[in-house]
Amino acid sequence: MKPDDFALATKLVHAGEIRPGVLGAVSLPVFQSAMFEYAGAAHYHDIKYIRLNNTPNHAVLHAKLAALENAEAALVAASGMAAITTGVLAFLKAGDRILAQETLYGGTHEFFTQHLGALGIGCDFLDIDDPASWPSRVRPATKAIYVETISNPTLQVPDLEAVVAFAKAHGLVSMIDNTFATPVNFRPAEHGFDLSFHSATKYLNGHSDIVGGAVIGRADLVQAALLKLDALGGSMDPHACFLLHRGLKTLALRVACQNESAFRIARFLAGHPAIARVNYPGLASHPAHARAARLFDGFGGMLSFELAGGVAAAERFMGKVRLPIIAPSLGGVETLMTRPATTSHLGMSPEDRKRLGISDGLIRLSVGIEAAEDLVRDFAQAL
Ligand SMILES: *Cc1c(COP(=O)(O)O)cnc(C)c1O
Repeated sequence: MKPDDFALATKLVHAGEIRPGVLGAVSLPVFQSAMFEYAGAAHYHDIKYIRLNNTPNHAVLHAKLAALENAEAALVAASGMAAITTGVLAFLKAGDRILAQETLYGGTHEFFTQHLGALGIGCDFLDIDDPASWPSRVRPATKAIYVETISNPTLQVPDLEAVVAFAKAHGLVSMIDNTFATPVNFRPAEHGFDLSFHSATKYLNGHSDIVGGAVIGRADLVQAALLKLDALGGSMDPHACFLLHRGLKTLALRVACQNESAFRIARFLAGHPAIARVNYPGLASHPAHARAARLFDGFGGMLSFELAGGVAAAERFMGKVRLPIIAPSLGGVETLMTRPATTSHLGMSPEDRKRLGISDGLIRLSVGIEAAEDLVRDFAQAL
């Protein structure tokens, strides 16, 4: 059987692994060696050296991550932002432009709006809910389109099929940040996306103990990203590779649990009189529910909601919950809760937040792997 014949849960454990194991080891050891003995490498990029992203710990992750999304190739990086910035800079040069969804992850939004310009690269934002308006945003210099599978913190799901069709029609490289969905729930390459990015800090590693990133997609594009990463140097350390590798093996179990618990919590909150609004793609009330149900294998472990009592009620509620940890970030085994207006979206003007549906009282929840009934009981007592 080829690795492609196996289900994702099997690939998580077996794809890309060195067999028989190194000196008989069942688990791949961490190769904490900056350089390796010269073995006749003919090209600079083939010299075995951590920054050149080719130690055994890197190679195994690259093969496994590509298999997970049924893509041709993959590359790990020192952080999600290292993956995104390196991936984007591998294709765009001075004079080029990129089209992007407006509700991007804060770090990506800042890179696109504050840093690309200095390199002579322009960014145009799209009204992602209005595909008919997209063609008017394309200019001769436009080379790429960039979206997120599920947006933060309002959990919108763009028309991803329309994005791919639009990219193909206009000859653009299509890029997607698939962090929130994970390869368990959505595999961009299967839908025609050229490149997908992950913050491996989140679900892929899943234990809130490293930063890391990944670029997954077409072999020629990943190779270009690799050459750029070799030059820029945002390479993943072997010890982080080792932890990511270990964390990845349980991704399917964790995400299945998180999908189910988040759905249960979303339904509980939606039915509670103290709750004004719940954003979760699994709920029939979500504007893109039908699309999410068609494209995704699960609705994910992220949700956001507003209390009827606004900011004051949100503050009281967050002070009363016992299990969720009040902290930014997401995708770990522990449930995390944050108010985006005070953390991830603090840098955005109040007018922009309002326009994008991010009220001051909005609470974002990253559901962990605790027993769902304990989380529901905790929310019930806090409400
Ligand atoms: C966290 C995050 C990033 C950035 O990843 P880092 O590992 O923090 O650099 C990018 N995109 C999304 C959707 C994220 O949640």
